[in-house]
Amino acid sequence: MENQKKLQIYNSLTGKKELFVPLHDNYVGMYVCGPTLYSEPHMGNMRTFINFDLIYRYLLHLGYRVKYVRNITDAGHITNSAGYEEDSIGKAARLEQVQSLEIVYKYNLKFQELQRIYNLLSPSIEPTATGHIQEQIEIIEQILQNGYAYVVNGSVYFDTQKYMQDFNYGILSGRKVEELSTETRSLNAQDEKRFFADFALWKKANPEDMQIWRSPWGDGNPGWHIECTAMSTKYLGKQFDIHGGGMDLKFPHHEDEIAQSCGSFGCNPAKVWMHANMLNVNGQKMSKSFENYFLPKEIIDGTTSLFKKAYSANVIRFFMMQAHYRSTLDFTESALDAAEKGLSRLSEGIKLVEKITVSDKSSFDVQGVIQNFYEAMNDDFNAPILIANLFDAVKFVNLINDGKETISSDDRALLDKEMNGFIYDVLGVELKTASSHSKLNPVMDLVMDLRQQARQNKDWTTSDKIRNALEEAGIVVKDGKEGTTWS
Ligand code: AMP
Ligand code: ZN
Repeated sequence: MENQKKLQIYNSLTGKKELFVPLHDNYVGMYVCGPTLYSEPHMGNMRTFINFDLIYRYLLHLGYRVKYVRNITDAGHITNSAGYEEDSIGKAARLEQVQSLEIVYKYNLKFQELQRIYNLLSPSIEPTATGHIQEQIEIIEQILQNGYAYVVNGSVYFDTQKYMQDFNYGILSGRKVEELSTETRSLNAQDEKRFFADFALWKKANPEDMQIWRSPWGDGNPGWHIECTAMSTKYLGKQFDIHGGGMDLKFPHHEDEIAQSCGSFGCNPAKVWMHANMLNVNGQKMSKSFENYFLPKEIIDGTTSLFKKAYSANVIRFFMMQAHYRSTLDFTESALDAAEKGLSRLSEGIKLVEKITVSDKSSFDVQGVIQNFYEAMNDDFNAPILIANLFDAVKFVNLINDGKETISSDDRALLDKEMNGFIYDVLGVELKTASSHSKLNPVMDLVMDLRQQARQNKDWTTSDKIRNALEEAGIVVKDGKEGTTWS
């Protein structure tokens, strides 16, 4: 509990690291913008969710009761790709010739599977935009009533100029409205807006729209930003502790969320705004639109052309933890190989700490070694430093094993508990190797043999059937260049 009081978090709103003091003792309310499920999340999306999983895990580890809300965008993410404004999910549905919610359901199943594979804890609740249309309408009504929005031809726009008379638009992103004018593309709705920086709260329906809702302003769709204001308010209140998302959401999405909250309730929704940095490919943000992405399943299946072999989800997670959440990260083969080696060193260390011989007293400051774990994470969730500190602990364990240092029984138990706690509970890395599944091993040998035979006979139906059934049982089979493995 002592460590709860020492947590410092970098607040994007102030540009500083600040001591974290929750609004209510022992409780943390955290909202993170979730995926838009018009396609399978790519590795970049997963990095952001893995980073917030680490943050969630450490808050839990410190003993906080955390209400973690992460939404699912299943409507309203409007793009201007086809020459006219269109909901990205509606677009995917049109292209795949299915209904919008079929698209969302299909990709949500994939997303949930990825969370299991990459060992993400489930949020407390995952609300959807389509399940909260009424709440969105009510907030828009409140903004209209307060005079910060206007209705044009069945659409509702946020009135940025009116808002700027009372609040600071740009408080989070630091963007100046004058600079924005050069960035704004000519959207269809541009002529409906009073001012170029105004954004849609509600859009009048197009005849082609797949999903349409009734509203006081006629049939239409919610704007992109309003769902997060509606859902964060509903589940966490008008003000809560932490609001997070990827760096690319800072503007306009989060700036507009702040404007909507101030425009309806008069206050910034979150005390701390946290932004996770991007996963890059050769220095460029991984993105669907740049076509430089790979899928989180491809890298563990060894089917991406970028890498010669497959890597386990554990290795990838551990690799990601070696970069601070506010730094960019590039995937390279050599770095992944190094992470694989590092992970097995840590694994050996953890096994050894259970076995080392104890003495009357410790020859080094075991409490200090452990305190370093907390200090790293208390410094804005610095997982790379935590990992370096865990390796320091492994060094001591090896020295004890070589008879060059000693440890008392109590200290050994403490070190064992804390190392395990930080590796499994905080970093979310599983070190258990196949040998710890001793009862399963002979069965798996048989199953893998049968699958190998099927593959040799080019009986892909059987080999896929085995692989899929195993996957359902939580066992991931990887066909790498150096043979087939399972975990
Ligand atoms: P989206 O599904 O596009 O709404 O994105 C879901 C989350 O993934 C958001 O928090 C984005 O900021 C984040 N994201 C998108 N691209 C990347 C990337 N290349 N690296 C890290 N996070 C990303
Ligand atoms: Zn959001």
